[in-house]
Amino acid sequence: MEQVDITIIGAGVVGLAIAHRLSESQRGEIVVLEQHPHFGEESSSRNSEVIHAGMYYPDDTLKTRLCVRGNRLLYEFCERYGIPHRAVGKLIVANTPAEVSNVENLWAQGKRNGVPGLELIEAAQIRQMEPLVNARLALYSPTTGLVDAHQLMRFYEAQAESNGVILAYRSRVVGIDPLPNSYRVWITAENEEQFEIESRLVINAAGLGADKIASLVGIDIDSCGYRQHPCKGEYFSVANRHAGKIQHLIYPTPTAISLGIHTRLRLDGTLALGPNAFYVDDLDYDVNPDHKMDFFNSVREFLPFIEESDLAPEMAGIRAKLQAPGEKFRDFVIQEESARGLKGFINLLGIESPGLTASAAIAEYVDALVKDFF
Ligand SMILES: Cc1cc2nc3c(=O)[nH]c(=O)nc-3n(C[C@H](O)[C@H](O)[C@H](O)COP(=O)(O)OP(=O)(O)OC[C@H]3O[C@@H](n4cnc5c(N)ncnc54)[C@H](O)[C@@H]3O)c2cc1C
Repeated sequence: MEQVDITIIGAGVVGLAIAHRLSESQRGEIVVLEQHPHFGEESSSRNSEVIHAGMYYPDDTLKTRLCVRGNRLLYEFCERYGIPHRAVGKLIVANTPAEVSNVENLWAQGKRNGVPGLELIEAAQIRQMEPLVNARLALYSPTTGLVDAHQLMRFYEAQAESNGVILAYRSRVVGIDPLPNSYRVWITAENEEQFEIESRLVINAAGLGADKIASLVGIDIDSCGYRQHPCKGEYFSVANRHAGKIQHLIYPTPTAISLGIHTRLRLDGTLALGPNAFYVDDLDYDVNPDHKMDFFNSVREFLPFIEESDLAPEMAGIRAKLQAPGEKFRDFVIQEESARGLKGFINLLGIESPGLTASAAIAEYVDALVKDFF
């Protein structure tokens, strides 16, 4: 049986960021196991590609800390290594009294979270910045931006590989046995051939599959609150005649389970809307064309230039949420599991938004947990 020091399960942006970081810190022999033929075939390629600033989440949470830190690290990486990105800035807009008070609360929360440069701006200034947007008040966040998620993952993968990390694609983890000082990881290859490796540490960065991986090692995911609740987000494209009309990301105020249907601005200036949010049982990525009217109604007040006929189904992603329907906010879980008798097993669960933004900061956090073992 092959022996390695660290096994990372999942080659999404988080698993790859961890592989990159641990390989830079020279933490022994590292293997990444990924069920698909390529990296980032799940959530990491099906999102808004926004570099979030960190004003949405409560004080003293991992989401806040890792988003604010991740935002800085991501801009540094992008600038240093030429990863396509742009600090376009964002406006969270308000028209009704309830929205105005939400925006003011976000401003106060953002200040507490240490988000730089936040400003409340009124209608005249909004019109100057975005002549086609209708809003009474907006929270302006200059450090919100866009990143090319594919290029970011390519960067993490290439750097990790050149530091000696083994990337094993088409390798699905199907079993994990705790041994006295390590783990036996059972893998099924694409041709259904089974093999196994022995690993001192295991890092579960399996995204939507992370709760299944946790149960494979014997954790009761219901009693410890590790069950994930997949929550779908669809996007509709906006007709090309509107490309270049909006310079900033325009968001409504958030809902209990999402940031609200917003503009998805791409680095090439084209526009889409999304994502909506609804819990699902199946992991299918179809977009329901019947949702078009909901999208139109969600944005018609603040983006009055968009017509219903401008919208067409585009793509969907699925969030790995720990928050069950009706539940309150849940934070990321990033946990070394010695307290459950699983020394050296690190779980990452509920890595929904802002997981892309936070990827380098999550990797730094995991590196600090791993350091104790070297
Ligand atoms: C609709 C939507 C919009 C979003 N927008 C943003 C945004 O604008 N900004 C932002 O910061 N974040 C955003 N996010 C969140 C962000 O996309 C995620 O936090 C991030 O991609 C999570 O990365 P990951 O590596 O944990 O998961 P994934 O990308 O899902 O990777 C997990 C990997 O594990 C693999 N895997 C699973 N089980 C196994 C197994 N048994 N064996 C081997 N491999 C396995 C999967 O194949 C997958 O490749 C959004 C998410 C969604 C869904």
